Amino acid sequence: MPTTVRAAVCREFATPLTVEHLTLADPGPGEVRVRVDAVAICHSDVSYADGEWGGDLPAVWGHEAAGQIVEVGDGVGFDVGERVVVTLIRSCGECSRCQRGAEVACGERFALDRLTPLSDADGRPIDQGMRTGAFAEQVIVHASQIVPIDEDIPAASASLLACGVITGVGAVLNTAQVAPASTVVVLGCGGVGLNVVQGAALAKADTIVASDPQVAKLDLAIHLGATHAVDPMTDDITTAVDELTGGRMADYVFIATGAPAALASAERLVGTMGAIVVVGMPATGVAGQFDPGALAARNQRILGSKMGTSVIARDIPRLVSRYHDGGLELDGLVSRRFTIDEINEAMDEVRSGAALRNVIVFDHGGG
Ligand SMILES: [Zn+2]
Ligand SMILES: [Zn+2]
Repeated sequence: MPTTVRAAVCREFATPLTVEHLTLADPGPGEVRVRVDAVAICHSDVSYADGEWGGDLPAVWGHEAAGQIVEVGDGVGFDVGERVVVTLIRSCGECSRCQRGAEVACGERFALDRLTPLSDADGRPIDQGMRTGAFAEQVIVHASQIVPIDEDIPAASASLLACGVITGVGAVLNTAQVAPASTVVVLGCGGVGLNVVQGAALAKADTIVASDPQVAKLDLAIHLGATHAVDPMTDDITTAVDELTGGRMADYVFIATGAPAALASAERLVGTMGAIVVVGMPATGVAGQFDPGALAARNQRILGSKMGTSVIARDIPRLVSRYHDGGLELDGLVSRRFTIDEINEAMDEVRSGAALRNVIVFDHGGG
């Protein structure tokens, strides 16, 4: 039987989301229905809702979720009742990209890619935004999108593992494979950038320079393992990195902001043999410039990193154990909790940069 769920729907870009009752289809083969306990608001949700990236409307966004399996389709190797993280990474495990460890770039088309499981009260289809649609009491996702977690991690903290944490930490450990004792610069200390800082600390980088115009975020970066913090409004980061490295400059520069100026500054900050790693998501059409001659002469690399090149079944359990042994901060990254009816206020705080991660929590009553 299809299920009725309350969900926050985007019917027109740059207007408030409306909380409506939607119909959620039954899970098909290989799919699961998950009761959402917590869903974090990512900057991507705001970018989509503001119309920066286009996409089909009406839609339900939300892609950083944690919850509990309530129904499984045929051929699913998970059980009802299991607690899981729900991600947007839907993968076949068999195509050439999956085989190369890039599930994030899986080329397979799934039944859920062809037909949304969501429809409104009039029976009209509602797009499942970012393959998840988790601004809703329940979701239908492909089983490849979920990873079981233990009972000891709170749902709000666990939800962050679905996007911000794997994107940031994975950019360091998977995409760039930062070597111990490296010098790492992180431009932008939002939800992703702070997790790049955490990843650099896990990779045992010696020098981790965090840069952000918001002092509160710099303080958090230091708490998470940054060795130096630079406020670009008052200090010149190029000078700072030059002094810290004796002129060698950084081994890795992570761009964790959508600001177009970051690419230009990254080029000045990266040293010989260094890598620029682009993890920020600027608006569609934003372009950067670089000097190809200098890039070649200095043997440098520019790397794109989508979702931290994560293999979620491998990476999320590792991150959960680091959380339990104190090596990974999650609880402190949650700014505030909201109900689904307060989602527009929660989105506004993310839009303004005031919040790190606001989380929508659901009270399902009785369980
Ligand atoms: Zn996200
Ligand atoms: Zn694949």
